[in-house]
Amino acid sequence: FSDLTRKLIEVRNILKSVDTGSGNAGAGADGDSALHLPSIVVVGSQSSGKSSVLEAIVGREFLPKGTNMVTRRPIELTLIHTPASSSSTSGSPPTEYAEFPQLGLSHITDFAAVARTLADLNAAVPDHEVVSSTPIELRIHSPRVPDLTLVDLPGYIAVTTRRQPAELKARIAELCERYIERDNVILAVSSADVDLANSEALRASRRADPMGVRTIGVLTKMDLVEPSYAASLLRNQDYALHLGYVGVVCKAPGGGSKGVQPRGDDAASSGAGSGTSQALATRAPAPPAPSAGGAVVVANDDYFRQHPSFSARDLSVGVASLRRKLVSVLEQVMSSSLTTVADAVERELEETNYAFKVQYDDRRVSAESYAADAVDGVKQRFKAFVAAFGKQEVREAVRKALQRRVLDVCAQVYYAEPGVTTEFPRGCVDEPLWTAKVDLGASALTKSGVGRLTTQLVVDTLQRTVEDITSQEPFVYHPEARKKILDFAAGLVRSKFHATVDQVENNIKPYKFEVDVNQSEWSDAAGRAVATLEDQLKEKTAMLQSIKSQVGRRRLRMAMTHLENQARQERARVEAARRQREAGGSAALAPAAVAPAEPSWWQRMLGGAGSVPKPTERHADASPRINTLLLEKAREALSLRQQTVILKSRIQFLRSGACRSTDAKTCCPEVFYTAIAEKLAASAAMFLQVELLTDFFFQFPREVDNRLYYDLSKDEIQDFAKQNPQIRRHLELQEKKEKLEEAMEKLIEIQKKAFDRSSRY
Ligand code: GDP
Repeated sequence: FSDLTRKLIEVRNILKSVDTGSGNAGAGADGDSALHLPSIVVVGSQSSGKSSVLEAIVGREFLPKGTNMVTRRPIELTLIHTPASSSSTSGSPPTEYAEFPQLGLSHITDFAAVARTLADLNAAVPDHEVVSSTPIELRIHSPRVPDLTLVDLPGYIAVTTRRQPAELKARIAELCERYIERDNVILAVSSADVDLANSEALRASRRADPMGVRTIGVLTKMDLVEPSYAASLLRNQDYALHLGYVGVVCKAPGGGSKGVQPRGDDAASSGAGSGTSQALATRAPAPPAPSAGGAVVVANDDYFRQHPSFSARDLSVGVASLRRKLVSVLEQVMSSSLTTVADAVERELEETNYAFKVQYDDRRVSAESYAADAVDGVKQRFKAFVAAFGKQEVREAVRKALQRRVLDVCAQVYYAEPGVTTEFPRGCVDEPLWTAKVDLGASALTKSGVGRLTTQLVVDTLQRTVEDITSQEPFVYHPEARKKILDFAAGLVRSKFHATVDQVENNIKPYKFEVDVNQSEWSDAAGRAVATLEDQLKEKTAMLQSIKSQVGRRRLRMAMTHLENQARQERARVEAARRQREAGGSAALAPAAVAPAEPSWWQRMLGGAGSVPKPTERHADASPRINTLLLEKAREALSLRQQTVILKSRIQFLRSGACRSTDAKTCCPEVFYTAIAEKLAASAAMFLQVELLTDFFFQFPREVDNRLYYDLSKDEIQDFAKQNPQIRRHLELQEKKEKLEEAMEKLIEIQKKAFDRSSRY
């Protein structure tokens, strides 16, 4: 049953990713969960040769080097044995490659790139965090490696340099401490040329494993000490280890590059490796590559054969025997916790199944269907909007906007004139002042930027709609997705904006020169004009009413009277100056010259400059109870009152029968302009439809589909779904259930095979 270890490693990796809710999920040191299979953790001081040992085990240089490199994250190294491909010439896939599953990087065949990636990940640990307990996951597939899992921990450092955080040393020790607790096998790496009493790795493991039952001592740089002394170190009685010490040489004496000329693996070099451990692959004799990183590493196991001191049967030396030992020890510790773990997984699975039933009634969700539903929701709501925003509705909206324009034009051209309520109705037919105005207003209306006004109106409606349909569930959880929709909607609109404005302007161009209104259009417009004025009157009356109730009727009347008196005095003063001037006497000229030009009545009505002193220049006789705010309100009320007077008068005139026929154009500008506005609205609405809406209605749902669904990767869809906390909890419980089921299945298989095997003997 050669793949026992591999199966166990698979189970271990599954269990590591199971969130047990105890807050330890994925957070480094295996947590305290019972869902745990032990591993081998590698500790050693910096420069003890730890990296060299790991690389010798893997048979490749893959760790970052550099004098200033301090590892700050554990590396979860999973080695997966792959059978060597029969020929390297055929297009068969590479058998030796690395993967970073967390980064989604797989099939990396350049091991120098692995070293670079590790260095980058290491450098990404922010300084304030000092060390990170989240392991980097690295998998290496190779015919040279046995199935094995190792956790490479940051090396103990003796002193921190000035550029390193002060607490680095302590934090590394802490991190190692957490991993060597519990039931993990400790691989304690020490350099043979350093007094073992000073070995940080042995000191730490002794604290965690005082009886020395789960520690393997590795002594590196055996070539640097005298062989008989080296042999005595391996028999270390000071801290006797049940699993023993292994001596290794990972660098040729004096040589700059690691390894010596490769030779076939000498299977007889050690008695270790019982029948239970897997057969090690024989290494293909590959010459060490001369590259800066990623080179093939072959340990110098020959060294020990050259020195008789190491020939004693009780000594364990060489990387080959270290490997065998690791494999068998790992298999042993993992197998021995098999029953415990299987029980724990079963219990956890039962609980998870129960929770899933109670909370979700065994209903499954998928991130994909959730995302698809969200997209559908947007499209449905958009569809409803499209149905409700047809030609008629667009025209109605445009018409409303243009009617406001009509009122503006009337206000500017007519209502601002004194006499609009008295002289205009009398002299509108042949008084030149009035007859000249009607075309002036018509031209102001058609040239008021109708294209921009109406396009903007539709654009605003679209934008509001898109904002609206993305502000509802579930988009409260997806602000980014919402922004994406808003952005591309804005982009779609922007790309059409100017063309639409131009089209509308082009198509209303004839009306800028002449507008023919027939009788039926006129009658229709007459009705609309009255309605518009009445609406306006209602609005102004309501505003006036609201001021009254805000300020109080009496106070308001008092303030208004005050303002009127002032205005009357002002007018009298101007009048007196005029008379004086007319009476001759150049001396009287001065005051008249400085007197401000009488503001137009409409201006005064609107509370504009001139008629009323500004609050700051309040007259001394003003009652102290009339404050600035009150004066402002009073000014506003005066203006509103005068507007309602004009509106009432115009409504009365329009209703009087004077506006029945098209001939009444000069007397009834409101009707004429309304008729023009109708024509403009019809024309604008048509082109808005053609230029802007048709396209938007077509494109928008498709873009929603693409950007929120089809263009997303599986992971992005997962992320999207998990932004919704409810869905996240549901998905996570479901994932947990699936993982536990998978682990359970594997464990049952392992147990069954183990049982079959034991019953054969
Ligand atoms: P780490 O900091 O513990 O990972 O140590 P390294 O593996 O980087 O080794 C530190 C130094 O010791 C490097 O210069 C290695 O080349 C050297 N070294 C490692 N193993 C041996 C060995 O077995 N013999 C000799 N002579 N030098 C070694």
